[in-house]
Amino acid sequence: MNTQTPVCALCGRPARFRFASAGSTPALRCWRHAAFYGPVVQRALQVALVVGTFLFIINQLDVVLSGKVTPLVALKIVLTYLVPFLVSTYSALETSRLRPATSAPSEAPPERPGAPA
Ligand SMILES: [Zn+2]
Repeated sequence: MNTQTPVCALCGRPARFRFASAGSTPALRCWRHAAFYGPVVQRALQVALVVGTFLFIINQLDVVLSGKVTPLVALKIVLTYLVPFLVSTYSALETSRLRPATSAPSEAPPERPGAPA
């Protein structure tokens, strides 16, 4: 049984995330370094650009074209791009999160009450 705790490749803290990388070994990162992992940030920026632009067109383009941009509208435009960026980052981190090892496959499953013997 492997009891060794995986560590972040950059700082040596306990790794919380594992990312597929171009090399044969996966990239292990702590929370701090995972949030700024290059491919995650790059993908989130692409998602924010595409989704944010669609949402901007749907929600604020008419206001901008009418010349009625207020500080509140400007804040909403920033949030329109920020939200898909954060959702994409969260999604990437959640799918790459290391989970505690489950019981070994050779171990018998726990008995369930009411199950046939
Ligand atoms: Zn780290």
